[in-house]
Amino acid sequence: MMYQKPKGTRDILPGESEKWQYVEQKAREVFKRYQYKEIRTPIFEHLELITRSVGESTDIVTKEMYDFKDKGGRHITLRPEGTAPVVRAYVENKLYGPEHTNPYKVYYMGPMFRYERPQAGRLRQFHQIGIEVLGADNPAIDVEGISVALALFSSLGLKKFKLVINSLGDQDSRQAHRAALLDYLTPLEDQLSSDSKRRLKTNPLRILDSKEEQDQPIVADAPSILDYLNPESTTYFETVKEMLTALDIPFEVDSNMVRGLDYYNHTIFEIMSDSEAFQGVNTTICAGGRYNGLVEEIGGPSIPGFGFGSGIERIILTLEAEQEKKHLDNAIDIYVVGMGERSSLETLKLTEHLRRAGFSVERDYLARKAKAQFKQANKLGAAFTVILGDEELELGQATIKNMATSKEVHYNLNALYNQPENIFQELGYKSKESEK
Ligand code: ATP
Ligand code: MG
Repeated sequence: MMYQKPKGTRDILPGESEKWQYVEQKAREVFKRYQYKEIRTPIFEHLELITRSVGESTDIVTKEMYDFKDKGGRHITLRPEGTAPVVRAYVENKLYGPEHTNPYKVYYMGPMFRYERPQAGRLRQFHQIGIEVLGADNPAIDVEGISVALALFSSLGLKKFKLVINSLGDQDSRQAHRAALLDYLTPLEDQLSSDSKRRLKTNPLRILDSKEEQDQPIVADAPSILDYLNPESTTYFETVKEMLTALDIPFEVDSNMVRGLDYYNHTIFEIMSDSEAFQGVNTTICAGGRYNGLVEEIGGPSIPGFGFGSGIERIILTLEAEQEKKHLDNAIDIYVVGMGERSSLETLKLTEHLRRAGFSVERDYLARKAKAQFKQANKLGAAFTVILGDEELELGQATIKNMATSKEVHYNLNALYNQPENIFQELGYKSKESEK
């Protein structure tokens, strides 16, 4: 019996996981600069929370949930996204209270689950990095949130992406637009794809987001939400655009852009990549927006919010397409080459000692010949080898070889035990930390 991983999941193996760490580390640095703190919520939640916030008629809720009854009969779901859980935690822990910072700015990174048709950059277990800001109804927050996302992609060295924004307006504006949309679409119902026919009944706004060829000419002429914004919503959106311009952030407005989650209003945005990773198809690597009604919707006070989520798998695909292997620095400091009978215990001791002293160290465990051990050292990118042979040990010595220059130096073993830092520095060792 050979077991296979469930469809739409992946093993992230060494060699690949370094890229994940690189992305996560860059993200943490950016979040620190913008003063977002990490929040970690459970991987599963009550189903009701998600249907309430994401929306009963969204694809996520109707088709993509990983839900089940637990042994106590609770209806549970693996989380499909990060915002609802964070808002739940915000309300449940009363994080809007006077002893907390306001606005409350958090970030998360972790797995999300959606039962989707797997393809490149689309999985059933995928991972998101995201932020949420709760407590401020200020366009400066929308612009800050967008800046955080852009700062993340820039810090990763990515270049082939663009910012697209739109406004859904407030509740009134949305309703006016919905009515106009229904007036326009209902006579065209016969020409819509089957998915869009269904959406016409449940969630007409989502038709604007249809990827079906058949729907495209209809979508292109649909009434634009921007024509239905009331004065307050227009002013809000204008201010967001002015602020982006003031920060020299280029953007496009796409009045047909909508989001697959019901809780958004006012500003929504996507960051699209046209990297080769996606075979010429513009692909969203980050998406988010404002959600002013959500906290109240799930039982909290009337508090506004803004956030985004970005798919780590898609970030890494663009990273691989756009960047050389720079971020894959796996090289070790030292490889201990043990030769001969006597070296066995000494190799054990010296390796452990050097590791305790802070070096990254590897050794042989398979009784390989010296030549094979050097080959191994090269493969691991060792900066130095320490050679422990019978002759050396007889003299209480070890030979250290600088692998870049091939220069060999003999050292007293005691000195190596007592002052490894000094010795390796003398030989030109630079710690990874000091390079930063
Ligand atoms: P799409 O239109 O691609 O299905 P979405 O609107 O469902 O995206 P969001 O829920 O806004 O996406 O999620 C934000 C980001 O999370 C996406 O831009 C993408 O990078 C990532 N993402 C969403 N679903 C998946 C998935 N199944 N696999 C990998 N990444 C995903
Ligand atoms: Mg989706």
